[in-house]
Amino acid sequence: MRIATFENAGKPAVGVVEGDKILDLGAAYGKAGGPQSVLELIAGGPKMLTEVRGVVEKARAKSGDAGLWRPLSSVKLMAPIPRPMKNVFCVGRNYKLHIEEGARARGVPATYPEVPEFFSKPQTTVVGNNDEIRLDPKVTQKLDYEVELAIVVGPGGRDMKAGNAEAHIFGYTIVNDVSARDLQQAHGQWFKGKGLDTCGPIGPWIVTADEFGPSSGHAIMLRINGETRQSSTTSDLLFGCPTILEHLSKGMTLDPGDIIATGTPSGVALGMVPQPWLKDGDVIEAEIEGIGVLRNTVRAVR
Ligand code: MG
Repeated sequence: MRIATFENAGKPAVGVVEGDKILDLGAAYGKAGGPQSVLELIAGGPKMLTEVRGVVEKARAKSGDAGLWRPLSSVKLMAPIPRPMKNVFCVGRNYKLHIEEGARARGVPATYPEVPEFFSKPQTTVVGNNDEIRLDPKVTQKLDYEVELAIVVGPGGRDMKAGNAEAHIFGYTIVNDVSARDLQQAHGQWFKGKGLDTCGPIGPWIVTADEFGPSSGHAIMLRINGETRQSSTTSDLLFGCPTILEHLSKGMTLDPGDIIATGTPSGVALGMVPQPWLKDGDVIEAEIEGIGVLRNTVRAVR
């Protein structure tokens, strides 16, 4: 199932995407109500998910009812969780070739992490599909892109085991970990350079874990104005999703709907010669097989 948040009369509403249509889940529930947000849906656990499946099944029979199903192209999607409860968790340096391109760009030898390297992006970075990414030349001259597979945490908890990861993952989405490389370097620690407003596009929706299947083996790519810059597979992750969950939740509670971006493959602007930093008007398409395409345009402010 593909679960989205869309703008309905100016307010966020829960939608289920099938093909080129989106189901207004609230309307499908009718008077019964149903989850008011994707976060509420996730927090409801497997019982809620089964209930939602039942409602969607019934709504399929009413595909002629324009009030329930709308053309996907006619609605404005928001980030599937427009305002996460916490910062977006991220793993740095998690694809071998990306580690090597980063080291080359800095003129240092490549070293590989023995445990996942975690950082986070503030909630104010989060925007949705087709939203603009703000580029303020007074703040950064070196804005870069990073397509990443992201885990959406299910029931939550502490001390999760990699072997039992399936029980802890609600689904998957795409994060573009947009990064101001000059700030990242200047401040030593990554938080500032990864934390600018709108620099955390998420979407276009969440694909439930059962539909996505094993987290490895999915093509992952990114295009700038149609030109492929990143192209890899999630099989190349140094630390896979189950291992990441085990490390992050060790002694630290994860909540339903927490988002964990798992790192980016090679092909970022930082690793290229010359370095083609993002500029006004650039259209970024971040794509993962089995999820879809997250599209954003860079907009320079003056
Ligand atoms: Mg990243």
